[in-house]
Amino acid sequence: MSEREFDVIVLGAGPAGATAATVLARQGRRVLLLDRAKFPRKVPCGGWLTGLAEPFLSELGLNTKKVLTNPFRDVTFHSADFEKQSAPKIDRDFGFMIDRAAFDSALVDLAQKAGAQFKSEHEIHDLKLNESGVQVFHPDGSSHSARLLVLATGRSAAWLDTIGVARARGDAAILNAQVEATIPKKNAPKTPHVSVALGLDGGASFGLIGLTKDRLVITVNWRGEADAVIRTLIYLCRSAHEAGVAPMDLSNFAVSAPVIKSPAAVALDMDTHVGKHALVVGDAGGFVSAASNEGIYPAMWSAKIAAEVIHNALDSKYVQDELMQFNTMWRMAMADHLRSPHTDVRFLLPLIFSNQPMADRMGAAFFFGENI
Ligand SMILES: Cc1cc2nc3c(=O)[nH]c(=O)nc-3n(C[C@H](O)[C@H](O)[C@H](O)COP(=O)(O)OP(=O)(O)OC[C@H]3O[C@@H](n4cnc5c(N)ncnc54)[C@H](O)[C@@H]3O)c2cc1C
Repeated sequence: MSEREFDVIVLGAGPAGATAATVLARQGRRVLLLDRAKFPRKVPCGGWLTGLAEPFLSELGLNTKKVLTNPFRDVTFHSADFEKQSAPKIDRDFGFMIDRAAFDSALVDLAQKAGAQFKSEHEIHDLKLNESGVQVFHPDGSSHSARLLVLATGRSAAWLDTIGVARARGDAAILNAQVEATIPKKNAPKTPHVSVALGLDGGASFGLIGLTKDRLVITVNWRGEADAVIRTLIYLCRSAHEAGVAPMDLSNFAVSAPVIKSPAAVALDMDTHVGKHALVVGDAGGFVSAASNEGIYPAMWSAKIAAEVIHNALDSKYVQDELMQFNTMWRMAMADHLRSPHTDVRFLLPLIFSNQPMADRMGAAFFFGENI
């Protein structure tokens, strides 16, 4: 392959990579979007997307009417023992319950329509940097080259060292375990609903119970000892069912649920997201909200900012200097959204169940990244 076959290679076609590819291709850049998975691909996901994503996705050109079909207006907060509850109120949809596989595929389609070349089932097993740009290698020995790289490979930290970016140690990391099931029609809710069990460890760990007309998904977001995750998921499945919050008891499935480490909010602790000829976006850069472990919207948002920076860098004599703008730009736009509420949840918990304005503020913090 000749040098600089593409302007930009985007590695990873999740929400982050597909967004970066769309924005850059629409600017007329030659973009190659690569992913090792076959699409549509299944990823573990609670499937809730903040309401903030709707205008973002419309602007990106996605047919939101087709993809965001399950808005949810009703949210319930529960205490960890399900004895107390409160319902935050806001004057708009909290968000959407999405079919994650279909959502990610719709974003990849959008990137292709914008002109990006997409190759699925293309694992990258080596990455080389030289003075003129980057080269990625497939296991069969073939390669592709570009001037710049967007690293959007998700929560694994692969390639960060190669491009010279250090991932923060991940003190903020969250452990996730999840179960899901198809709901029989007779048990289906009339409208999608999200319940959040707060304070599972007495502090910031929580469980999320998402319900649509055909699907129940229960996720534990855990900050405590690793060996307690599955125990907590079993407890959550059972208690949510007994409290009438989950129409089925999924505790039998919980026993064998995989435990996944999410890079919650480590973006805030990283010195830089700028590598040699490369920017890091999405989960790969720790762009995950600390309060709610929400990662889809932050992944797309970080990627959009990165794509704008790269578009400018490609026209500049000082490419690497231009790329450095990303560090400032994402912080100015996103840092508040990613940060956890400036309050110790432990002290806040009783108020959320006794004081409506506090429940409303917790709702805005959790689903819209606002400060409490
Ligand atoms: C259990 C769980 C539940 C979650 N629930 C929610 C939720 O309800 N709402 C929410 O907003 N967030 C949720 N998240 C977080 C969210 O899923 C992520 O933040 C989001 O997927 C990040 O998008 P991304 O594009 O950065 O990475 P990903 O979606 O992980 O995409 C990365 C892509 O890179 C590809 N890739 C990796 N390495 C290579 C390679 N070497 N070669 C080629 N391709 C490669 C992968 O195949 C993958 O398709 C959840 C996370 C977990 C673990």
